Amino acid sequence: MASGVVESVAVIGGSIAGCAAAVVLHRAGARRVVVHERATAELADRGVGVAVHTERCAELLAAGLVDEAVPWEPMRVLHWYVRDDADEERYAAVVGADGHASLVRGHLHPGLTPHSAGYPAWRGACPQERLRGLADWADGVCAYVVFDGGHLVVYRIPDGHGGRLVNWVLYATVPGTATTSRTLDAAHRARLDEITGELLPPFWGELIRRTGPDAVFLQRLYDVTAPRYASDRLLLLGDAATVARPHTGAGAVKALQDVAVLESSLAAAADWASAAAAYDAVRAPVGRAMTALGRRLGLGLVEATPDWHTQDAAALDAWWEELAGQGGFGGRGLGR
Ligand SMILES: Cc1cc2nc3c(=O)[nH]c(=O)nc-3n(C[C@H](O)[C@H](O)[C@H](O)COP(=O)(O)OP(=O)(O)OC[C@H]3O[C@@H](n4cnc5c(N)ncnc54)[C@H](O)[C@@H]3O)c2cc1C
Repeated sequence: MASGVVESVAVIGGSIAGCAAAVVLHRAGARRVVVHERATAELADRGVGVAVHTERCAELLAAGLVDEAVPWEPMRVLHWYVRDDADEERYAAVVGADGHASLVRGHLHPGLTPHSAGYPAWRGACPQERLRGLADWADGVCAYVVFDGGHLVVYRIPDGHGGRLVNWVLYATVPGTATTSRTLDAAHRARLDEITGELLPPFWGELIRRTGPDAVFLQRLYDVTAPRYASDRLLLLGDAATVARPHTGAGAVKALQDVAVLESSLAAAADWASAAAAYDAVRAPVGRAMTALGRRLGLGLVEATPDWHTQDAAALDAWWEELAGQGGFGGRGLGR
């Protein structure tokens, strides 16, 4: 795209997708890129890490969207803060990188609402030292601990101070109760106690107990995908465009891939509208595929789990192939 074709772009949301979008818009020659982030304090992570699959990370490194120097935190987020007092500001285009509850998505698709998964995730990260005295498991293993009606995923992450945390996420239904906040209410505490005490193998139940009740939080789960990712003036990136359930393990990757495709679309197009159309043609189908994958995984791993005890290795392989065989677990390849 010729330098200066888009004079000015507003990016709504200054997290992963928003900041990456600002970078590529700048690279593509936009003369003025303003990131509007509503958070007034410094953005913080949730303390449970961001898992990025190696191949996807390599693609994003090659695309110049992940910094090699920070392998443990592959996204170095840039924050631009600007006081926005002026009512009369005008932009040629608006990029919605404003996350799962995107206002920009609401403008592009009025009435489109997220679809609740119907079950939550409990999350926590236990300092590794607290697990001393328990049987350990090998480095490099991501454990899927399954039970009737749910599963636990466990993997190690850095604690940011040279040590390690054992990060876990637990999915299960809580009959008759919806999740309304990050804090566990009585029903979600009781269900967690039941799962740790009666459904999980003792080691994994103990891991959750040793995390400590105050370090456990709830995540509401839902999915939504925008039928179109762009009009001639509005464009959606990351969770603003599509939220797929976290079983897919690909939200951050997807956000950065969106930005990578936006960059290549800008480079190949003569104007913003054609770049936006090209971007939409590539990324909207990926969003639909990831949402569908998240729902299939949710069904097989939480809502309608198989009889685990009668599954041999071949049956497990066939079952996984049916759920995830179409690809996308950990993120689809860039360009697919
Ligand atoms: C607990 C948890 C764990 C996760 N773990 C993983 C993982 O292991 N691997 C993975 O790939 N993904 C993971 N994800 C998903 C991943 O974090 C998201 O997919 C990713 O952050 C999406 O990036 P984004 O920039 O599109 O949206 P967000 O990160 O949600 O950023 C949106 C930004 O927009 C701002 N904003 C919203 N509305 C406005 C407004 N009106 N005006 C201005 N600013 C606004 C928000 O303050 C926010 O900073 C996890 C998510 C959660 C919640």
